[in-house]
This record gives sequence, C-alpha cells and structure tokens, in this order.
Amino acid sequence: MSEGAAKKEEKPRKFQAIRGTRDLLPPETALWNRVEQAVHEVFATFGFGEIRLPILDPTELFARSIGVDTDVVSKEMFTFWDPFDQRLPPKYQIEEARARGINIQNEGELATIGLALSFQQLTLRPEATASVCRAYIERNMQQLPQPVKLYTIGPMFRRERPQKGRYRQFYQIDAEVLGGSDAPGIDAELIEMVMTFLERLGLEGVQLHINSIGDKNCRPKYVELLREELRKVKDKLGPDSQRRVETNPLRVLDSKVEGEQEIIEKLPRISQHLCDACRENYDEVKRQLALRGIVYSQNFRLVRGLDYYVRTTFEITAKGLGSQNAVCGGGRYDGLIELLGGPPTRATGFAIGEDRLILSLQEQAKSKEVASGEWRVASEKPRVEVYVAWMGEKAYATAIRAAKNLRAAGFSVELPPVEQKFGKALGQADKLGARYALILGDNEVASGEWTLKTLATGEQATFAEADLLKFLGKNRSGE
Ligand code: AMP
Repeated sequence: MSEGAAKKEEKPRKFQAIRGTRDLLPPETALWNRVEQAVHEVFATFGFGEIRLPILDPTELFARSIGVDTDVVSKEMFTFWDPFDQRLPPKYQIEEARARGINIQNEGELATIGLALSFQQLTLRPEATASVCRAYIERNMQQLPQPVKLYTIGPMFRRERPQKGRYRQFYQIDAEVLGGSDAPGIDAELIEMVMTFLERLGLEGVQLHINSIGDKNCRPKYVELLREELRKVKDKLGPDSQRRVETNPLRVLDSKVEGEQEIIEKLPRISQHLCDACRENYDEVKRQLALRGIVYSQNFRLVRGLDYYVRTTFEITAKGLGSQNAVCGGGRYDGLIELLGGPPTRATGFAIGEDRLILSLQEQAKSKEVASGEWRVASEKPRVEVYVAWMGEKAYATAIRAAKNLRAAGFSVELPPVEQKFGKALGQADKLGARYALILGDNEVASGEWTLKTLATGEQATFAEADLLKFLGKNRSGE
C-alpha cells in the first residue's frame, strides 16, 4: 500500500461526550426552561433571591463541609491541581500568590516560593450548599436582615456509576435559608415552597418523607447505640455496611442492599432517642406542615449521607424513576457555617435533582394519552411558526421586512437565505413542521396582498401586511 492510500484510510477521531455527561437538545430544552421559569416565579413569591456561584471552589471547602467520610468526597469528586504559573510576569505572580494566601512582599521573595506552595487543589462542585455558605461568609451576608433566602440552579459533578436518573454532570435546583432562628415554621415553609413548585409543574405521585435526626446532644448517644446493635449483626451485612458500622453507622440505615433490609427494620429508631428539645421541635414541624395542608410520611431511615445535618431531614420521591426515585433532598444544617469559619448560624435548605424531575414529567406525559399541563405545550410549540417562502429580488426585500416584524411580535420565523421554487419551499416548510407559510412573489409584492397558507389544512388566505399580524396574533399556536 502506498503512503498516500494509508493516509486516506486514517479517519479523524470522532469525539463523544464524556461518560455520565450528555447534551440536552431542543425540543427538550424548552421543558428545562419551563421548569426553571417556574422556579424563578414560585421561589420569588416566598422571598427568595437568586445567587449564581462559581462551578469551581477549593477542594477543602467540600471536604470540610460534606465530610471526608462520605462517598461524595472520598470517591466522587472531580478534583485537579491548579498549577501556579511561574511564567507570568512577577507582578502577576505576586498577585496570584497573595490570592492563594501566600503573603509575598516583593519580587525578591518570589524565588522563595517552593513548588509545594505553588499549586492549589480545585474541585468541580458536587453540590451547592457549601458554596452558598462560603459566599454567605465571604460576602458578610450575616449583616443583612436575617434570614437570607437564596436559590441557585446549575450543574453539579459527581463521579458516580451512570444509570437512568444518575449522571456525572447533573443539574440541581438548590434553595437555602441562612441565619435567623430555627423556628419550625421556617422548615415547614421551605417544604411548602418545594411542594408548591412541584404542584405548579403538575408533577403527580409526589411523596414527602420526613424525619428528625436529632442534634449534637442526642444524636451521638443514638449513633453509639446503633453501632453496638450493628456490631452484633455485623457478619450478616455486606462489605459497605460492615465498614460503615465503624465509620458512619447512620449510613447503614439508607442501604438498599436486599439482604440487609430485614435487619435494618429491627434496628433502634432515632425517634425513640430524641432529647426533649428535638422531640418538641419535630412535633412542631409536623404540626406546621399539617397547618399548611401538606401530607407527609415519616421515615426513620432518612438520615442523609452528609455530616452537617441536624433535626429535620426530608426527601421527596416521584413516579417513573425506578430505583433513583428521589427528586429532592433537604434538611437543617445549623453547624455548617461555623465549621467553615463563619459565625454560629442556623440554616436549612434543599436540592432538587432537575434531571430526575424532568424525567418524571416526561414519563408522566408518556403514560397519558392526552397531553396536558402548561409545560408540555411549551415543549411542543413548533420550532417554526411562519416559513417565509419568497421568490425574486424584490420579494426578498419584502420578506426580510416581514420576518423582522413577525419576530418583533414574538413569532418564530424561518427565512430561507437563498431563493427557492415555491414547491420546494413549501416542502421544506412542511419538513420543519411549520404552522404557516407566508408566500411572497412578484404578484404579492406588487399588489400588497400577501398569501398565507395554513400547512396542516392547505387553506390559503390573502391579507394586507397590517392585517396579517392581527390574524396571526389571534391564531397563535399553543393558545
Ligand atoms: P444530594 O445533594 O445528594 O442530597 O442530592 C439531591 C438531589 O439531587 C437528589 O435527590 C437527586 O434528585 C439529585 N442527584 C444527586 N446525585 C445525582 C446524580 N448523580 N445524577 C442525577 N441527579 C442526582
């Protein structure tokens, strides 16, 4: 084989999205936007403001707040070393070093920075709470009227085993209430907000599960008791749970391993071991939920994998998701801000898994014969409402003007960039699923009477330019 022939056979590499990540495409993205629009609207009515956070934060922030013992920190974080760039001019190196907490006074001292100091570890955020707390402290939000209510929407990253409803890049809708008191009304209202939001989307089969995991007075004693009981049955547990008996016995309670279920059901439950203050708090949260007409079930196994939670924890499940059926997890985390160097601060929040929420909405729509609900209309609105079929130079100028006016009135318009025979243009309009074709040829331009064809029925009508907009406005698709 000649060299030339060998070269010909070499195909350029085809790239694929990284395992566990995916592209979200239209028309599905219309549904994502619809969901996010509902977040902005509903959360604002509860007094929440949006915070936008960096995707990267120092690894230590997550290690400290999530806990080194958790799966997230010990095996799932995307972490990398950010090298200190010694090729930069000295002025920038000094700035960079100071930003990393290395205090350098002058150029002469630059040479003394060893390589060990010149890297920092960064992580693609696996969740938002830690970063929201970092921002609360860094931006002195404790000086604002308390509590501060914030929400954020965006991608999170965890190196988990991908499956339906579980990705390595996934999206969360996250809300936090920081500062103020720990009045049970705050927990109940936060839950009310997420339930209102899910109701607004028309999500069916939503179930709220709640629990209290006590606080630093009563939980350690319960954890010890749990550990003792678990040690007695240790040889009947799988390897993960066996390890957790020593490292984090609470986590055994959320094990999904088949053979462990019977054992877990017989373990002591935290509700029997809450101190008086925590029991009263839990009773009041339940009363406050009832006041708001919110139905819940209690689940003693709801412990959450993260270390900083106290008292109320909750989870919301939805239909159509198989084993990954939790769409929202949340709870109180009064100790976290202090752990991150801030003042003692009460806090509670939740994270909704947006991917799963959307999967559940889609499954729900699939299982119904008749499409219903506003969001579905949004995702099914045709991409093209008006296809402008034009022929001739004069008609082209008119077509450009028509497209501009229609777009300004909010219609989605397709204007072919090169001249096409009308037959071909109408075929193209059909393929795109356009609702109307606006036909502009020499005759139309000369008479000022434009022809509009409704593609589904084949009906044609003529309009003066001004009347066309009025007609289209009255017959808007999706309305
Ligand atoms: P967490 O931050 O672990 O409490 O998770 C909160 C919510 O985010 C869960 O209830 C899920 O709906 C969602 N979630 C967590 N991890 C993933 C993942 N790997 N892929 C998709 N959604 C996830």
